[in-house]
Amino acid sequence: MVEFIREMLQKWFYKCHTKAEKTRTQLTPWATELIKERNTYSKKYTVCPIDSVNFNVKDGNKDGLVNLSEKTCSCTKFQVDKLPCRHALTAIRYAKKPFLDFCGDCYKTTSWLEAYSGNIFPVGHPSEWNIP
Ligand SMILES: [Zn+2]
Repeated sequence: MVEFIREMLQKWFYKCHTKAEKTRTQLTPWATELIKERNTYSKKYTVCPIDSVNFNVKDGNKDGLVNLSEKTCSCTKFQVDKLPCRHALTAIRYAKKPFLDFCGDCYKTTSWLEAYSGNIFPVGHPSEWNIP
């Protein structure tokens, strides 16, 4: 059973590392798709700036109060996901700031690549093990 798990992890690490190396976006494919989807909706929203970091984003429903310096929104998705919500994307676009600065490091391709940078080698035949 342990050998099965080791082999599965070896395949998993290789597959994920290879996929991360081929990724050309700065965010992981999953995060990129989520941001694209949120960005599509956010283009319909309007912004009422309060100051240079606080924005009231009107979405036609509950609206969102975004603070870009604290990376928070009243809808709470921004602080929970560590990715900009629709309101935050609207505010970021209005403030003309790069949205990547507001994405958590765990969603960046460099972190993904680093997470799977280790190699998992076979342990060899039990007759070759050095057991004290
Ligand atoms: Zn929000």
